[in-house]
Amino acid sequence: MRDAYYSPLVVQTAVDLANTLRPIKGEDALETVQQLRDFLDDHPAAEPPSSAANQGAGPRHLTRADLAEVRALRETVREVLERANTDPVEAAALINDGLRRSRATPVLRHEDDRWWTEVTSDTDRRSAHLAATTLSALASVIATLGPARLGVCAGPTCRATFVDLSRNGSKQYCTRTCSHRASVAAYRSRRSPR
Ligand SMILES: [Zn+2]
Repeated sequence: MRDAYYSPLVVQTAVDLANTLRPIKGEDALETVQQLRDFLDDHPAAEPPSSAANQGAGPRHLTRADLAEVRALRETVREVLERANTDPVEAAALINDGLRRSRATPVLRHEDDRWWTEVTSDTDRRSAHLAATTLSALASVIATLGPARLGVCAGPTCRATFVDLSRNGSKQYCTRTCSHRASVAAYRSRRSPR
């Protein structure tokens, strides 16, 4: 029942947000308001609850200010993912500070005979809601599985972040592609003449 504490989709949203920046390649997939809109469309798990947020301007109305706020959040999320394993106390401080600033609020919900809790933001800011959901999901992973589940791909040219929700928790690479590339490189270096 550990899964009950976090939504894997929201955890993935946090990872995907951090990985919109590829530090080694210098690629940034979150430079425009349109790119932010696309990211949010692709990640409905980070959507504010329909009852509260669809009033007023609505979630589709995004501005340069939203973009700047989400880019700042991305820095925090990436730092948490990068540091949790080596400096969990600092990662926790970053999470707690981010939750406080987003005015994260736990809410109890009920639908179709099912009860569940989720964390949302006590504001109508899109970025604040994204901060509350992603940071609380990472907090839950740390609390249930441990900080070592957050990490950075061991691929020397990658540095993408990941969260390992697997049973054995031995993930080292962000994707199969990176893991395959590393084993091919290791094989070649064993075979190459010295
Ligand atoms: Zn990788």
